[in-house]
Amino acid sequence: MKTCIFTSNSSLNHDTGQGHPECPERISSIIKGIKQIKSPNLTWKTATEADQYFIELTHSKSYVKKINASFPKDELKYLDGDTIISPGSKKAAYEAAGSIMSAIDGIFKKEFNNAFCVIRPPGHHAEKEKPMGFCIFNNVAVGGVYLIEKYKLNKIAIIDYDVHHGNGTQDIFYENNKVLYISSHQFPFYPGTGSKEERGKYDNIFNIPLEAGTSSSLFLKEYEKVYEKLRVFKPECILLSSGFDAHKDDPLANINLESKDFYTLTKNFLSLAQELCDGKLISILEGGYNLNAIQESAKFHVEALLGQ
Ligand SMILES: [Zn+2]
Repeated sequence: MKTCIFTSNSSLNHDTGQGHPECPERISSIIKGIKQIKSPNLTWKTATEADQYFIELTHSKSYVKKINASFPKDELKYLDGDTIISPGSKKAAYEAAGSIMSAIDGIFKKEFNNAFCVIRPPGHHAEKEKPMGFCIFNNVAVGGVYLIEKYKLNKIAIIDYDVHHGNGTQDIFYENNKVLYISSHQFPFYPGTGSKEERGKYDNIFNIPLEAGTSSSLFLKEYEKVYEKLRVFKPECILLSSGFDAHKDDPLANINLESKDFYTLTKNFLSLAQELCDGKLISILEGGYNLNAIQESAKFHVEALLGQ
């Protein structure tokens, strides 16, 4: 299996201020872990800025205009209580969204089999018209829209195993029958959404709320339902919102996954992608705030993507 890692230097220049959990060190820590993997099948690419057109289709023209106007020249600025932008954030946000588009292009050109975009800011809390929860543009949703618009796909599955509900991704695709959005998350918890009753206009949203304290074995058992859903839906491509904050050592949440569980999960997603959509699988970083835990977990994630 050939796996491509997308990174961007701009990810390190998105400054969220002293002590913020969504910090540049998250990226350096993950990259350090992946660099320990010695494999001829691992390649690296640098993300380029997204075509604004696809971000506008995902959010709206007015939203993108408003966000573009809000990037500060020389100080930090709060978009909400915890979503902070700095002078370096514009390039970081555009390259974060661009990374998933380039990953998709590379897979369709058969340059590699799957990809992991190690970028920030994350995206899954950004709603159609609202930045939120450290997120500015909804990167994984931009990927979904790009697959529909450029590659004319009709069935895209997004699996979000970040410990928080991806309210933004749900909001963007709530009435879109081309996208099956599946999210497992601690509940009730930030951001408050993600109940089982939120099912989408076309029964295209599948939420798996989990109690605080959920163990590895229960978590992995819940995912049996996800695999069933995917087999019924038969996606043409699978996107992963890869947050590593369901780890037991994560400071922001209370689910008890071990680092190696991210290997098991990824292995299962990969074999489903091989069974259902020619192995087309693109993963993009969301949350995860313990630097050691994300380094180990992301390394396991990439080893599984490589088929090791
Ligand atoms: Zn999260």
